[in-house]
Formats: sequence, structure tokens, C-alpha cells
Amino acid sequence: MVEQGDWRVRAACRDENPDQLFVRGAEQRKARMVCFGCPVRTECLAEALDNKIEFGVWGGMTERERRALLRRRPDIGNWHELLEAARREHAEYDECRVS
Ligand code: SF4
Repeated sequence: MVEQGDWRVRAACRDENPDQLFVRGAEQRKARMVCFGCPVRTECLAEALDNKIEFGVWGGMTERERRALLRRRPDIGNWHELLEAARREHAEYDECRVS
């Protein structure tokens, strides 16, 4: 189990009806729209992947998308670490482009 921290208090869906993110099938594609501007999307996705959470929309990904990702990358033992590193690299790349 990965430590959860306090990222949930900054979630864009915090005040939404939780049932909205736990719809089934194609409805999940619509439900995940709230995730695209969420400031804790990385943390949310890492939580779902590291803990193999099967149901609902997490981090902008549907159940089906997360299952496919986990099947493609069984070698990843710590998604939180991987996604945080990718986010840092992306931020550094953006800083280089601006300066
Ligand atoms: S990424 Fe989506 S499901 Fe996760 S906290 Fe943000 S809004 Fe909620």
C-alpha cells in the first residue's frame, strides 16, 4: 500500500458526487473530463496504479485504460516514483524552453 498523503484535499472532484466517477463503461470517458484540470492528477493516478484499484476513474484514466497500462508495464513496481520523475523532467524541460 502506498502512503496517501494529503493530495485528496486538492482534488478537483472533491465537491463532486463520488458516484459520478464510478460509472460504468463508456460513461467513464465523460466522467474523466473533471480530471483534466485537476492539480493532483499524477498523485491520483499513481494511487490507483500502485494499489491496483480496479474500479472508477482515477487520474483521468478509465478502468480499462489502467488495466491495459498495467498489462503493458508489469515491470513498474512504483508508479508514484515513475510519474513524479516524469513530471519533474517535464517541468525542467519547460524551464529550459522558456529561458
Ligand atoms: S484526477 Fe480526477 S479522480 Fe483524481 S482527484 Fe483529480 S479529479 Fe478526482
